[in-house]
Amino acid sequence: MAQTRIVTLDLNFQGRPHAIAAYLIRRSSGAVLIESGPGSTLASLTAGLTAEGLSPRDVTHVLLTHIHLDHAGAAGWFARQGAEIIVHRVGAPHLLNPEKLIASATRIYGDRMDSLWGEFLSVPENKLHVAKDGEEIEIGDLRFLPVNTPGHAEHHYAYQFEDLIFTGDVGGVRIPGYQYLRVPMPPPELHIERWRESLAKLRALKPARLAPTHFGIFDDVDWQLNEVEKGLDSAARWLEHAMKNEPSVEELRESFTRWVLGEGKSAELSEQVVKVYELANPLGMSADGLSRYWKKVRGGG
Ligand SMILES: [Zn+2]
Repeated sequence: MAQTRIVTLDLNFQGRPHAIAAYLIRRSSGAVLIESGPGSTLASLTAGLTAEGLSPRDVTHVLLTHIHLDHAGAAGWFARQGAEIIVHRVGAPHLLNPEKLIASATRIYGDRMDSLWGEFLSVPENKLHVAKDGEEIEIGDLRFLPVNTPGHAEHHYAYQFEDLIFTGDVGGVRIPGYQYLRVPMPPPELHIERWRESLAKLRALKPARLAPTHFGIFDDVDWQLNEVEKGLDSAARWLEHAMKNEPSVEELRESFTRWVLGEGKSAELSEQVVKVYELANPLGMSADGLSRYWKKVRGGG
């Protein structure tokens, strides 16, 4: 069977390439997006659609892997252009009423909130479609299989499409051109054990290609999934060790950042690429995620 063409739209987040993608698939009438990106990158996304001879109104469906701002911030805007938004059951209430999500993000980003993420509009109820785990989504002649994949977030789907899986964040963060991957571990729902189970599910589907939102389509599937698992294992070991000294939040952030950047040095990343990784996956955020996981899941003090 001929492969359906998938277009990687670079949203040029904060003026940088290869940080956040949305994926576009044409259909006989209109088009489907996987991820909407944040509100702040709508101009780039619209430009990407224009280059394909499309307008935002041609987007009939947006499939979201999860509702973090960098993946779903512009979903409400697309819904108002007429698109149906497809999401995990647990993420749906936050799209209908994003106030809590916006408030918690504002606590983290403060006055940088708007320049980073732009507007986060609610999704009207009649435009919201909750997908069921393992139940195929039919859009014209396109078929997507949502796969419940918690770990990075409780409400995370990966979508299998033909020989490829859109992995959202559960398949890690990697930038084209480097054999290097990072595991994004934000609060409040990081769960290392569930994440490992999600990886096993993805392996069992035997995809030929993976498309993480950060960034691009890759065909070294075994390497990528193994690397996520290794990253989880080493973060868990690191955490175990780091927590022995009962560090403050700041100390934990600092030592985690030192540890990860040290590993990046051995991968010979350029300064430029380190910046893009930091945009796609801020290290302080992962340190906070680990700290929350330690308290909540591991019962640490
Ligand atoms: Zn995320």
